Amino acid sequence: MKYVYFFGAGKADGTGDMRDLLGGKGAGLAEMTRIGLPVPAGFTITTETCDYFLKHGRKYPKELRAEVSKHLARLEKLTGKKLGDAKDPLLVSVRSGSARSMPGMMETILNLGLNEKSVEGLAKATKNDRFAYDAYRRFVQMYSSVVIGLPKEELEEKLRAVKRSLGVKDDTQVTAAGWKQLVGEYKKYFKEKTGKDFPEDPEEQMWGAIGAVFESWMGEKAVTYRRVEKITGLLGTAVNVVQMVFGNTGDESGTGVCFTRDPSTGEKIFFGDFLLNAQGEDVVAGIRTPVPLKELSKSMPKVYKQLERVREKLEKHYRDMQDMEFTVENGTLYMLQTRTGKRSPSAAFQIAVDMANEKLITVEESLERIKSEDIERLFYPVLDPKLARNELSARKLTEGINAVPGAAVGKAVFTAADAEKWAERGERVILVRRETSPEDVGGMYVAQGILTATGGKTSHAAVVARGWGKCCIVGAEKLDIEAAAKTMKVNGQVVREGDWITLDGGDGSVYTGQIDLSRPEPPKAFETLLKWADKVRKLGVRTNADTPQDARVARQMGAQGIGLCRTEHMFFKDFEQPEKSIERQEAIQEMILADTQEARRKALAKLLPFQRRDFIGIFEAMNGLPVTIRLLDPPLHEFVPHDRAKQAELAKKIGISPEAVARRVEQLHESNPMLGHRGCRLSITFPEILEMQVRAVIEAAIDCQKRGVKVLPEIMHPLVLDRKELKILETATRRVADEIISESKVKLEYLVGTMIELPRAALMAGEIAEVAEFFSFGTNDLTQTTMGLSRDDAGRFLPEYVDQAKAAIFKDDPFQTLDTDGVGMLIEWAIAKGRKTRPKLKIGICGEHGGDSESVKFCHRVGMNYVSASPFRVPVARLAAAQAVVEEKKNKKKK
Ligand code: PEP
Ligand code: MG
Repeated sequence: MKYVYFFGAGKADGTGDMRDLLGGKGAGLAEMTRIGLPVPAGFTITTETCDYFLKHGRKYPKELRAEVSKHLARLEKLTGKKLGDAKDPLLVSVRSGSARSMPGMMETILNLGLNEKSVEGLAKATKNDRFAYDAYRRFVQMYSSVVIGLPKEELEEKLRAVKRSLGVKDDTQVTAAGWKQLVGEYKKYFKEKTGKDFPEDPEEQMWGAIGAVFESWMGEKAVTYRRVEKITGLLGTAVNVVQMVFGNTGDESGTGVCFTRDPSTGEKIFFGDFLLNAQGEDVVAGIRTPVPLKELSKSMPKVYKQLERVREKLEKHYRDMQDMEFTVENGTLYMLQTRTGKRSPSAAFQIAVDMANEKLITVEESLERIKSEDIERLFYPVLDPKLARNELSARKLTEGINAVPGAAVGKAVFTAADAEKWAERGERVILVRRETSPEDVGGMYVAQGILTATGGKTSHAAVVARGWGKCCIVGAEKLDIEAAAKTMKVNGQVVREGDWITLDGGDGSVYTGQIDLSRPEPPKAFETLLKWADKVRKLGVRTNADTPQDARVARQMGAQGIGLCRTEHMFFKDFEQPEKSIERQEAIQEMILADTQEARRKALAKLLPFQRRDFIGIFEAMNGLPVTIRLLDPPLHEFVPHDRAKQAELAKKIGISPEAVARRVEQLHESNPMLGHRGCRLSITFPEILEMQVRAVIEAAIDCQKRGVKVLPEIMHPLVLDRKELKILETATRRVADEIISESKVKLEYLVGTMIELPRAALMAGEIAEVAEFFSFGTNDLTQTTMGLSRDDAGRFLPEYVDQAKAAIFKDDPFQTLDTDGVGMLIEWAIAKGRKTRPKLKIGICGEHGGDSESVKFCHRVGMNYVSASPFRVPVARLAAAQAVVEEKKNKKKK
């Protein structure tokens, strides 16, 4: 086994492809060396060594020492210098670098190799005492804190004391003697604390540093970072031992960081910062403010030109935007790092489109370059990136599950009614609830963002908010909400009604006060790239939309129809005529509470005009595109009031006694409402509901057809579990529809189909397809019922199931990313059986998974016709569908 890879003088043992083994930095240094760029020589100890070290009680593989010595000797020969030499010593940096970039999370030691003898050598060789002793004190300071773990603050204090004794303020004013004095202080302190002398032997120093870098892989910062960034499956960090070059030897020297394109806009300009006469660490620590890279073209025109050539070469070579670090030592340029640069979402689009146009990458590759988060983050406001991190953490109140990304600022209110009242006055509010219910939807709609103490990613609040692209945090379990007192308490702090709070739906953080937000403008490149995606993809992309307004937004986002219109949502709020909202809510409550068919018909007659008008609006918005309308599927308990006062109020309005309301609510009580009298079971027992809804759909369709609006209605029955059940519903549907159509003398075609959202329906899909003209997988319920996990309650324990540092049972939340192993098996079975019965069966998905990139790719692979996503996730689905085609092609080639 080879543990050490050398690079230098145009040759390297490793290559740029060996990121897993050499880490990003090591692979980049090897590759840059190979392609002839100026890189200081050195060697990389592999990530496998780190893995061994951590698994074997902090011991190295026995071959390692000899291998490192061999490569150190090679480095000394190549540079003509020796570590610890009294004349012109070799100095090295010892740096971390894993396969995934983890900026600042692991350790680095610079200027290694200095001791009492070699510091003199360095001073002589550079003819600069001050520089040599400055380098020495930096080394002793870093080594003491990083390798030995002495407190940074006390070391800093010693530095301040020396400055005080010299009567100077800045580091730059400290003389050689001053630094020498500080080195003495540090060493004394070292002895006091460790009982040992500071190591003089450079090899001992090097092994100490190597161990510290490996150890830093398990440091708290690094572990937390990997957890937050979901970085898993890596062996550890590599260690890079590289010849030091100095940017702080005078005005012919300096250091900088640059990008081959602008990382925030994506524009093709050379972008970066530079500091004259400084070391890289000064830039990172923010001790001095760097100047724009352009300045380098004035102060060192030759170096700048050379750097421009490096920029061109690296971008062509890596075929992606690079983020590079360089140092100039006495007029000579050295490249210290290159990696694929992180970029803002809008830059990601700009760069992908530009590079495809420049023919640097193919159109297919440009599609692969965009992540679904890039799209989501493009549309949602974010916390002002200029805000300092420490200020943010000081303001953090608590955190929950990040259900819908984006950020929101507003005054806390604790009831939906208050939210509406406040919003009417022109206030911006955040609605804070234990949980939300459909009654709250008006308040949710006017709120800037929504925060709940319970629930998961497919809870009511999350689904509704996602549909609007509204920032939403759910399951913030530490919140102690007292709706009556209009306060919430968390971690000893109290937030009262009207207090400002800020939500970051990106990571689920809740902050006190008003934090500035910025909303990124989607660039032109976004449209271009999505048009490319549309050409490539085979899956159709529809939307889940319940109102004409949502339908219009979704169409702008590129939806090719509606895959799910949840008709019960139409009774939450009247979006076109808000003053009629109450009337709507009461009509449906009256319908639910009715205990005779006659009473029910009376209530349904009130609902009919509302529904017809909604359908007309939706058909108009979707002119020429298919619209799937799902008949009523309300878990009934969600729609009726549970407290006495509200029941009495409702009783008065609908003209029955409060006792009768209370009795009906009692009767409707279900222990498991999600498995109760809902879905198509309602229409089986109360066919008049189906009749009213089908009438509303067909009358609206005829009205539109007559006016030249092209309508393609698809009537869908929810929660079907049996062929006969669907047959009864289908017969009733066609009877009502056909009668209205033939009376109207208008030509109208429509489909009747079913959702597949119960395991039994999936298993019996062959028979069900005898009746159904289409299937739409309702994967929210299908996940819930297949797994036996409540979609509304799983938020309480699922995080632990998903957390890689905890139980790690699932890779992702199955309510968010389809469980392709289990639920997926049922889907594949149902598609095969359904198509066997009816080869042209139209098949789609309308659960929340239809807007999740990985799940969309699965839908492509199993041969669905379309996916349906909430309006703001339509672009995500369009792109994922195209990426699925590209991936498929690649896999075929591999085979
Ligand atoms: C589903 O269950 O996946 C679905 C789309 O229906 P709902 O979320 O309305 O239950
Ligand atoms: Mg469902």
